[in-house]
Amino acid sequence: MDQDGGRARHAGPAAGGRGGGEGARRAGPLPGVRRPERGDRGGERGDLRGPAGAAFGGGRAPGRAGRGKRGLCEALAAEAAAEVGRLAGQAAAALAAGQGLEAAELAIRAGLTQLGRGLLEPLLAADPGYRGPRTDCRSGHQAGFVSYRDKTIDTVLGPVTVRRAWYHCAQCGHGFAPRDAGLGVAGQTMSPGLAKMAARAGEAVPFTPGAALVAELAGITLTGRRLGRHAEADGRAAAAVIEAEAAAIAARTLVPLPPAVLPDKLYIAVDGTGVPMRTAETEGRPGKGEDGKARTREVKLVCVFSQATVDENGYPVRDPGSSSYLATFAPAAGFGTLMAAEARRRGAGHVRQLTILGDGAHWIWNLATAHFPEATQIVDLYHAREHLHDLGKLLAFMLGDQHQDWLAERSDELDAGDIDAITAAARVFPMTGTKAEALDTALGYFETNAPRMRYKHFRSCGLFVGSGAVEAGCKAVIGQRLKLSGMHWSQPGATGILTLRCQQASGRWEEIWQQPGDRTPAA
Ligand SMILES: [Zn+2]
Repeated sequence: MDQDGGRARHAGPAAGGRGGGEGARRAGPLPGVRRPERGDRGGERGDLRGPAGAAFGGGRAPGRAGRGKRGLCEALAAEAAAEVGRLAGQAAAALAAGQGLEAAELAIRAGLTQLGRGLLEPLLAADPGYRGPRTDCRSGHQAGFVSYRDKTIDTVLGPVTVRRAWYHCAQCGHGFAPRDAGLGVAGQTMSPGLAKMAARAGEAVPFTPGAALVAELAGITLTGRRLGRHAEADGRAAAAVIEAEAAAIAARTLVPLPPAVLPDKLYIAVDGTGVPMRTAETEGRPGKGEDGKARTREVKLVCVFSQATVDENGYPVRDPGSSSYLATFAPAAGFGTLMAAEARRRGAGHVRQLTILGDGAHWIWNLATAHFPEATQIVDLYHAREHLHDLGKLLAFMLGDQHQDWLAERSDELDAGDIDAITAAARVFPMTGTKAEALDTALGYFETNAPRMRYKHFRSCGLFVGSGAVEAGCKAVIGQRLKLSGMHWSQPGATGILTLRCQQASGRWEEIWQQPGDRTPAA
């Protein structure tokens, strides 16, 4: 791989695209020539749909050679003014001919997009990325200049071709263009702007309709497959960065600053849900399918949110916009590192009241105790009620027509947090054999979690006792995009899209996109 200009912050290269879209090998002009004449389109990809070539200026380009930046801008401005005049004339004629506003506005937009491409291409050409006869390679060797090569990049304005200096490192045995890293397109066929757009569409809706949206809204034609590949890869790169940061926080080499305004109560709500996978992803894993094979893999999700107030009935109210989400296929330990990092970033360790909400799953409480022993642990009341219903079913043959009354009394005891009363009432019945074992298991859930079920006390403290926030999150963040009918995911693909969706749902979309300007390569 050539020098990475990974898109998601300081992540490595997103592994999408194929072959990085390097232009065809060709002997370029000698170093020092500021603006090579416009060559053939060297991009090797066949899936470009936009009109080939810049909107204007093709034949006039050599005239700009040798001018300074200011001269170039002035020349472009003059050409653009002429082009805008032509567009205005066309639009005026369309309106006069009664073709309607839509025809006029779309024609103007298409024209302006072409115009923009005509501005961008010569501006990019102004720096061919020549860094001298030798320049540092990523691994600290000296790479030698080879030639100038064309690369076609798809941008929000359509395809543009950049000619840039190509270097080769003999030790590493690979080549790279330092200019690509500066532009954020190393190993990429899409500009950062277009990649972000593709990712936004790909996280929101399935890839084919996503590509149709991009075409209709932005006027850029992409295949659904290409859009998906890029969105997944950029999401994976973001996931890698988030994981690396979490590991650094766990190792205390990175200490996140708590938020400027600390919430009074912070919640960490944890849940898991199955995502349908391709057959190859679940092979050999035991599961719930009819043939005993797994059809899904579990995604673990955390939702961190704060709460400052209760409503007029004393029920807690989640602070609007305070939820952040993280999801991963990683086993419990890896998930725990991510969860802890996210919670610390949100102020865990500084807040007065930290609460961890979950269903009865052991791994959740093991992680809670390991990472935040000071936190209050609460079993989601609705899960506890489900378990109570199951207990009622188990005893139904003994309870007869008392079943509903018995359950209502136990439900009141559960709300009161009186787990001893529930177990005492259930143990009244003489059970033997498998039924006795089943009863022990059912009551074990309550006995093990009794301290996490002091609902009356928790409510008197104004705390949430339900993990509805994370369950709604599971549905919205995961279910509504990854569990649609007929969907089957690869784990890397699902990881990418999940990561993008979590960032979007957390209001942190911008954070995962590195600004290419921040990454000027060593000159
Ligand atoms: Zn090297």
